[in-house]
Amino acid sequence: MKILLSSVAISFATVACLGQATVASGPSVVLHATRMLDVSAGRIVSPAEVLVEGERIVSAGTGITRPAGAKVIDLGDVTLMPGLIDAHVHLFLHPGAEDLQTVEESVPQRTLIAAAAAKADLLAGFTAERDMGTEGAGCADAAVRNAIDSGLIPGPRMRVSCNAIDILGGHEDAIGYNPAQHVLSNADYANSTDDLIKVIREQRKGGADFTKVYETGKDSIHDGVFKTPFQYTEAQLAAAVAEAARTSGGIDSGRGIVVHATGEPGTGYAAAAGVASIDHAYQLSEATMKAMHDKGIFAVPTFAIIEYFAEHAATPAQAARYRAELAYHAAEFKKQIAAGVPFAVGSDVGPFPHGTQAREMEMMVQYGMKPADVLRADLINGSKLLGWSGHIGELKPGYDADIIAVQGNPLEDITVLKKVSFVMKNGEIVKQ
Ligand SMILES: [Zn+2]
Repeated sequence: MKILLSSVAISFATVACLGQATVASGPSVVLHATRMLDVSAGRIVSPAEVLVEGERIVSAGTGITRPAGAKVIDLGDVTLMPGLIDAHVHLFLHPGAEDLQTVEESVPQRTLIAAAAAKADLLAGFTAERDMGTEGAGCADAAVRNAIDSGLIPGPRMRVSCNAIDILGGHEDAIGYNPAQHVLSNADYANSTDDLIKVIREQRKGGADFTKVYETGKDSIHDGVFKTPFQYTEAQLAAAVAEAARTSGGIDSGRGIVVHATGEPGTGYAAAAGVASIDHAYQLSEATMKAMHDKGIFAVPTFAIIEYFAEHAATPAQAARYRAELAYHAAEFKKQIAAGVPFAVGSDVGPFPHGTQAREMEMMVQYGMKPADVLRADLINGSKLLGWSGHIGELKPGYDADIIAVQGNPLEDITVLKKVSFVMKNGEIVKQ
């Protein structure tokens, strides 16, 4: 993401077991813990056990039946919960000037760094992520996703987008360099509806699951007034949404159009066009909030990155600008919650260290959302946005066994999400 650089410049049944799911057979493991999070009900079940066979959850609750010969792992005084979801990450970015990474580091080098980032996120408890653009590394994210899926390297299950899409001279177009040096854009150019459709097709051929479009920037804020130009019209975005829907073949697999959009009128154009999520979403008009509520379009706030940039700004004036943006967004976030805008959780990690992004959920609580709602946004809405609804995000029979343990009760203290002591992904223990 570039907003900142540029603005400077289970439902568990009450107590009993939830029944048995038919799953592929595999070694049986029973995870035992003091507590378990019932995400949809927003409550704790205690004590708790989850029976995992192979890659799937077979049963979860207080009174499950332990099959003969099952391996029992007593995790003790922890809370079992579904693996966390980060709907806005950049595996191909690390702390430091973003544009210079794409200029100075080769794509093979950045791909290896991305593999390390994927591992760091997984060990922090993030078992599913949406990578919001490689920032100049093309479809190298598809290779990382495939390497994870085939078991070559550890990492979350991924939805990837290749490069983001941007207009000539737009928000992500290597602004600030001598044009005569022809520094490459971090995004793929599209300057018309035809271009958008062509680039979407090229990226899908390269392995993209979904498409990220830069819809606004660069941002400015003066005396509490936030402004940002739009990049594509509503009609252009609608054409992109239609093309993405065509490629999905009617299957909901997280294959939509998502936008980087910080404010009006771009946020409104995106909502009207029917995108899957509006990321950053500082400024949403009443009409935009209503459209997002009615259509189920998720806002992904990305607070943590702004805080990090404010704390690591080069000058006091830059820091003040980031803090003004954060204060503006926090105030708007309260209005968005009140208006019933659906949220997913995305941190924009990459420009700040991978594996530390549970901070995003702390900030959402700090800015007015209840912990149970933040957890539902992360797990239930996140699974929908990534096209894995019914597979991840809850601990239910038949779901994929993405399970973590945290040391404490996240409904009482959201900061425990930073203390992940156990991680299982797809039935495989990756941290204990
Ligand atoms: Zn981003």
